[in-house]
Amino acid sequence: MATVEYRKIGKSFGSINILRDISFRIGDQQFVVLLGPSGCGKTTLLRMTAGLESVSEGDLMIGDKRVNDVHPRDRDIAMVFQNYALYPTMKVYDNIAFSLEVAKMPAAEIKKRVEHAAEILNLTDYLQRYPKQLSGGQRQRVAMGRAMVREPSVFLFDEPLSNLDAKLRAHMRTEIRQLHNRLKTTTIYVTHDQIEAMTMADTIAVMRAGKIEQIGSPDEIYDHPASKYVADFVGGSAINFLPGTMVAGAGGPAADTASGRIVLNGEVSAKPGQKVILGLRSTDVTVDSNGPIAARTVLLERLGHDAQLFCNGPDGQFVAVVEKGLRFDEGSEVRFAIPPAKVHVFDAETEARL
Ligand code: ATP
Repeated sequence: MATVEYRKIGKSFGSINILRDISFRIGDQQFVVLLGPSGCGKTTLLRMTAGLESVSEGDLMIGDKRVNDVHPRDRDIAMVFQNYALYPTMKVYDNIAFSLEVAKMPAAEIKKRVEHAAEILNLTDYLQRYPKQLSGGQRQRVAMGRAMVREPSVFLFDEPLSNLDAKLRAHMRTEIRQLHNRLKTTTIYVTHDQIEAMTMADTIAVMRAGKIEQIGSPDEIYDHPASKYVADFVGGSAINFLPGTMVAGAGGPAADTASGRIVLNGEVSAKPGQKVILGLRSTDVTVDSNGPIAARTVLLERLGHDAQLFCNGPDGQFVAVVEKGLRFDEGSEVRFAIPPAKVHVFDAETEARL
């Protein structure tokens, strides 16, 4: 069973504390994405898992073994780096075979594994080339092949697609996910790209300043963000945050904002008078002449499939995703509505979900 478990993991570099109280378990065959902005500590956590950084506090478990002091070579993991880390003077075949040769595996077995990996990764025709004769996507596949042939219990990926252009990135993320569906190797994947996280992960761990802010499935994280931070970070399009105050006697939970009174989901547990922040995704609001939110149009930005309407309201900029065929006069008033179940409500002070 290739499970990975972090038990109260902490990390300091000298007197600087980078990771605090990280505790969660990754089940066998799971694909977990560590998601967060630059500097939040996700690469450090991955490198600790690989054994490339020491563990300052807590227990790091792979399977049922504590591996804090186990050499990287003996952890049965393989890591794919952002820069691929290929040997430029070796052909693709030798790059993929290298770790098996170091481990003194019989040549026939090495050949079998390299050819099998090359077939899965569409590299069969490139085995006799040097890395510099390959495209970025092909180099990325060689790096994956090198990890695959070791048949590790756990794959670690450190932003493996960030050097590729947008189209190739989208293609490679489906390839990596398909590869996982096929091999089912437990995977930990680091990225700051929330679309990669949403499309690839079984489970996303959202990190913030050295801590885990929320762990859940992509749908849980998108539909029930635990904090304003998560709501802002996850979701392909803009989200509007409106400060408000809970009101009594509205027949159910509601909040007054400078833009209008917004009816909330009956499950919201906030008291009248409580200061809140409402999160309204631009994809959840609709143009509706009877809607509670009023704003003035500034710009319509066409996105091909639909369009983003930028407005100015009493709470500042307000963005809505609208049909691209809609026409607006600049500066005209538009009203918007949103279903109560789609309004995310956060405490104004703690910014935690209510
Ligand atoms: P990025 O996406 O930019 O790589 P990240 O979330 O992966 O960011 P880390 O690389 O884990 O972040 O770094 C977390 C923090 O730890 C940063 O503030 C970084 O400056 C610091 N840090 C990382 N490695 C070291 C080191 N060897 N010595 C001191 N500080 C370090």
